[in-house]
Parts: sequence; C-alpha cells; structure tokens
Amino acid sequence: MYKTIIGLEIHTQLLTKTKAFCSCSTDHFNSIPNQNICPICTGHPGTLPALNEEAVKLAVKAGLIFNGTINKFSRFDRKNYFYPDLAKNYQITQHFFPIVSNGYITIEGKKIRIKRMHLEEDTAKMFHEGDQISTAQESFLDFNRSGIPLLEIVTEPDIESPSEARMFMEKLRNLLRYAEISTGDMEKGALRCDANISIVNLENNQTSKRVEIKNINSFKFVEKALEFEQERLIKNLEANIKMIQETRGWDSTRKETFPMRTKEDDVDYRYFPEPDLPPLILTDEFIDHIRSTITEMPEEKAKRFMIQYDLPQYDAEILTSDKELADFFEKCVKHAKDAKFVSNLIMTDLLRELKENDDEIENLKIKPEFFGELKELMDSNKISSKILKDIFPEIYKTGKSPKDIVKEKGLEQIDDESELRKIIEEIIKENPEEVEKYKNGKKKLLGFFVGEVMKKTKGKANPQKTNEILLELLEKE
Ligand SMILES: [Zn+2]
Repeated sequence: MYKTIIGLEIHTQLLTKTKAFCSCSTDHFNSIPNQNICPICTGHPGTLPALNEEAVKLAVKAGLIFNGTINKFSRFDRKNYFYPDLAKNYQITQHFFPIVSNGYITIEGKKIRIKRMHLEEDTAKMFHEGDQISTAQESFLDFNRSGIPLLEIVTEPDIESPSEARMFMEKLRNLLRYAEISTGDMEKGALRCDANISIVNLENNQTSKRVEIKNINSFKFVEKALEFEQERLIKNLEANIKMIQETRGWDSTRKETFPMRTKEDDVDYRYFPEPDLPPLILTDEFIDHIRSTITEMPEEKAKRFMIQYDLPQYDAEILTSDKELADFFEKCVKHAKDAKFVSNLIMTDLLRELKENDDEIENLKIKPEFFGELKELMDSNKISSKILKDIFPEIYKTGKSPKDIVKEKGLEQIDDESELRKIIEEIIKENPEEVEKYKNGKKKLLGFFVGEVMKKTKGKANPQKTNEILLELLEKE
C-alpha cells in the first residue's frame, strides 16, 4: 500500500489593466512584442516601482473566496537571481510576509488547505528559434509580460491523487473566473502549475524523494504528469533505486517527465526586504469593501438555480460549474421559457459538442434564441425529439437557425393523420408474419412496427400519433 502526497504551487496572472509596479498595459496578447514596456518593467537602474492598488484588491478578494486570513501587514522582498527574462536580476515578491495566510478549497467534501498566497511580478517571455538539439541560433525576449502582477498560491501537501490535483486546479480556476480575479486561461499562461509529489510505502514507512514537476500548462497534463511520476517513484521504491530530490519537466509529446535539475543545483536567492516599497498596510474598511464586491459564487448560484428554475441539484451543479455556462443557460431560458428543456439540451447535447470539438462557450455559434426556436418546433409538433437530436450538431457547427435547417432539409414532422395511416397500413400489409405474432400475444413487436414507420419516414412521423394508429390497427378484430 502506497500513499501519494501532492502539493501544488500555482501562479495566476491577476486581471488588472496595468502592470504591478508601472502603468504599462497588461494586454500582452493583442500587442506586438515589447509594445507595453517602460524603464520600470525593463529594469532600468534608478527607476522606482509604485504598487498597483488593483492588484492588491484582487489578491485580497482571492484570499476571501479561498477562506484565507488577510494579513493587514505584508511586505515585499527581492528574490535575487540571474536569468535573461529578468532584467533587474531580482524579482519583487513577498517571501517573509505574504498578503494571505491559510485558506482552503473543498473538493468532494474534503478540505485541501492553502498555506499562503502572495503577490509578485511576472518575468519577460523568451522565444528560441532554431532547433533545440544543436546550438540555438537566436533567442528573443518580449518584455510585455514582464511586471504583470501574479498571485502565487501554495497548497499544503493535502492532495492524495493525480485526479484530485486536477479537480483542485479546475475548482480553483472556476472560482478565480467567477470572481473575475484571473482569466485562468492555462493555455495562454494566465494560470501555471508546479507540482510536488512524493510516495510513502505504508507497510514499512519508506519514503521516496520529493520530485517537483515544473510549468505544467493544462489540466490534463497536471493529471498525466503526476500519474507518470507516481508510477515512476513507486517502481523506484520497489526496486530500491537510490533517488535524488530533483526538479523535472513534463514532455507532453512523449508523455513522460524528464530531469531538469537536482536539489544540489538549487540557488540561494538571498531574499531581503525591497527597499523601494513601503510595507503594505491594509485597513478593516478596505477588506470589508472588497468583501462587499464579491458577487454570486457557484454554490450560491446553484442554490438559486434550484429555486428559481426548479432544477434538480445535479443539473444546477453542472450548469454552475462554469460561469460562462451558467450565463449561457440563463440567456437560453429567457428565450425558451422552459428551464428543464434547456438544461437537458445543454447537459447532454451542448456539453458533448463542446467536449468533442474542444470549444469554449465564449466562441459558440449556437445562439440563445435558437433554444426558443427549438422549444417552439417541439411544442407545435413540427419536429420530434429524435429530429431535434439529429439536427443539434448541425446547428452547433453552422450557427444556422433551427427553423431554417428544418425547412431546408424538409424535416417537418408528419403530423397529418390520413398520411400517417396510409404509411402504417402499408407496413402492416408488408409484414403479415409479425402481425400474426403480435395478435398471438407478442406485444413487444409494437416497437418493431414503430421502428419500421420511422425508417419509412426518416424519423419524421409524429411518434405519439404513430403509436395511436398502430395500436388501433393492430388491435382490430
Ligand atoms: Zn512598464
């Protein structure tokens, strides 16, 4: 029996308009390289940092939603090291006195404790051109990212499996997005994760060395990298292989971790208090004000959905698991005026399409008013639920209105009794053996006849009327 011990260090970019210590824009995705820079964020000697109040507000907000203690006294420190993406040769961070201590997030009823959360600045971004194997030809530096405020969130080693680590990251991101603290976009680097893992053999208390996996940039990879490392460490323990405390990276193409550096290479950062920034003192009024700006969070929203829309808890929890999804649902209900109808469609068909196409809610082609159209088409018996399921992927992919698709493809339900009766009479004539069996008590064959009608009408027959006519004709005599 082995026990897995995992702790996470997460860096998240705060959603401020300007950088942590200067007034440059943080919009590094819609800018050309080195567009949003100034002497402060490019580390010119003699420049002075000025703290962005917005970053402090967001850090406090994060502290509050993660149940943390907001420290009224915190302070900035210099973390000294050399790397080309760090022009000052030191990073401003909060080493000794973080802005938030303690806190927790609940995952399936279990508390995962947060040890601390602190403010720091992001570094510049490096690009390497040329192949990685021979000597690199050129490297480029983009300082647009340099100085963007980061919140580092450090958990206690309370996580016990790779899937729990993934769930933690997903919940954290969801809460950060709900409270508009960060976009939480892992692919764009707005949320980055380092994971520590070690293994204990519960039978003899033998412990593996601790391994840190650096810079994991997707939820899937958090789980995959930890699964790989968990297995590797257990194998090493079983084979009694001498291990070293090391830092490893995740190679997502080869699906394995690789060594980056050992603990012996670790540098002493010579932290000392940042002389150019005064200690950060927060008042109760300030913290109370931030508390008052926190809007509806997922649990509250789920409760409201259950009451306002009369939804089961299961539906409400899935729909509120993502803020954009919850907003989309509410817009659709405004048009369809039937919450359960919308909820069913979203939870089965829409979520399936989103997953299959790897899409984001923000970029959907399907419009909320289409849910109103679909409801109308169903209520007026123009289409069956089978046709609805059939056309949903096309509505999703093309963004064409359901009414147009139904008209274009001639999918309107056959509702006309005499027309249906004609079709059914033909089917009965064509299958005398089955009719005989039915009459001799094999009532299950009704399904066979319904199937035949649907085949002949390409699924367009009104199911209820089909049933009625079939029963009437089969039970005759
Ligand atoms: Zn700047």
